[in-house]
Amino acid sequence: MTSANQSVTLSFSFRDADGKEKYPSSVFQDTMALFDGRVAEDYDKLPEEALLYGASDIFMYAVRHGYNLSDEGLPSATDFALTQALSAEREENLTDDASRSLFGKKIPLSQSKMDRFVLCPFSYHCTYSLQLAPEKSGKFEGMDVGSFIHKIFEEFFSRLGGRLKTVEDDEAKRILADVMESYAATIAKGNPSRRFKALLERLKRTSELLVMNLLSEFRLSDFEPCFFELPISPYGEDGVISESIPISNTQSVTFKGVIDRVDIFRKDDDVYFRVVDYKIGNKEFSMNDILMGLNMQMLLYLFALSTDSSGSFAKMLSCKGKPIPAGVLYFSFGSQEKPKDPKEDKRKEDANALLLQTEKRIKRSGVLLNDKEILTAMENTLAGRYLPIKINKDGDLSGQSGTTLATLKELGDLAKTIQSTVKSIAKELAGGKAVATKEKKGEHDPCAFCRMKPICRTMQTEQEEKGEDVDG
Ligand code: SF4
Repeated sequence: MTSANQSVTLSFSFRDADGKEKYPSSVFQDTMALFDGRVAEDYDKLPEEALLYGASDIFMYAVRHGYNLSDEGLPSATDFALTQALSAEREENLTDDASRSLFGKKIPLSQSKMDRFVLCPFSYHCTYSLQLAPEKSGKFEGMDVGSFIHKIFEEFFSRLGGRLKTVEDDEAKRILADVMESYAATIAKGNPSRRFKALLERLKRTSELLVMNLLSEFRLSDFEPCFFELPISPYGEDGVISESIPISNTQSVTFKGVIDRVDIFRKDDDVYFRVVDYKIGNKEFSMNDILMGLNMQMLLYLFALSTDSSGSFAKMLSCKGKPIPAGVLYFSFGSQEKPKDPKEDKRKEDANALLLQTEKRIKRSGVLLNDKEILTAMENTLAGRYLPIKINKDGDLSGQSGTTLATLKELGDLAKTIQSTVKSIAKELAGGKAVATKEKKGEHDPCAFCRMKPICRTMQTEQEEKGEDVDG
């Protein structure tokens, strides 16, 4: 799918940013040797027509040179480029052959792949089909912060075992400190920088507050964390088997992921379970996102575990019947808010105030089974301190902002909607859709965090239109 059909351009710099002389790599020289008679050209000496990249370059060229768009006197290369640029609909799709060789009979998907494709198919193909990636910065990035917190949660609750309700705060904090020390030692190798150490200390403080919040939640709950980082895949390696979804007579979609946490509640012979996803930032569950095909992972996991036709999940739970879905929850934690009032700094020194402040930064939201008994098992007081529910004076329950209560039948309907969304995403993918799109999907701007900007140049065109300096 990467074979060029018009031309290939290789470039190198003569000098680096400090003016030091540079030479082309051996790859460049070997490639030149393949094409007899080709010599490198100096970019600064190329004719202006050879440097017209897109519609805006060509338009400015035409304006500078006094051409009308209908003029026949444009230089041929420019004429060609102008026609292409003005008529292009940016519908860059893959050929059938390229699509077939990329996907075959089984199309492997994960939520991050689906999100990328729904937001911008071009960016999906750059990321996953061509596997392009910017160079790693070597900094302790968001992803590493997430890994740290995931690991600490997993280790801490595993060490605590069944003592969720009986462990004293002091002992819990000692166990946690030990868990964090051991994990920090594995990532802070060599001689870490002061910045790294400071970030690590901040992370430890945040992790303690989050873990103590979770512990307080479980003390009021009959649900217990049962699995952490549970893999789910078509072959069930070390985890649960996910079923493939047929999209045609010859192709099907397979789904792969890792569930952050699964909590369970045993009632007689039944086992109720809920899926929890950790999010850094102020993320709230959104049914609109689900309907657009975004952020479906928690529900996909929930339905995969409840369908469980292979029986792999029921076996892990030693459950006689089918495990029953009790809901999905985001556990999101936002960044530290700056105190509006300087006096708040003083209050922050108080441990209880600090805990309350942290609780405000933690948000739980999702879809929960509309069954009072099960909701009471999740939070025994039903006060909505941890569980995102509220209760009115008549005793009726409803979800707080971002949370929906659904019956088992409604969950079943949602599962069907999600399945058909996954099918249509997979069909478009298998059909070769690769267009670059910068249209917003609800609140989501596909280009906001896209690392493929330098390739698609859509943003450059937009910034040039606004007259901004795109080089810095
Ligand atoms: S910058 Fe926007 S249009 Fe370009 S690839 Fe990324 S998401 Fe697509």
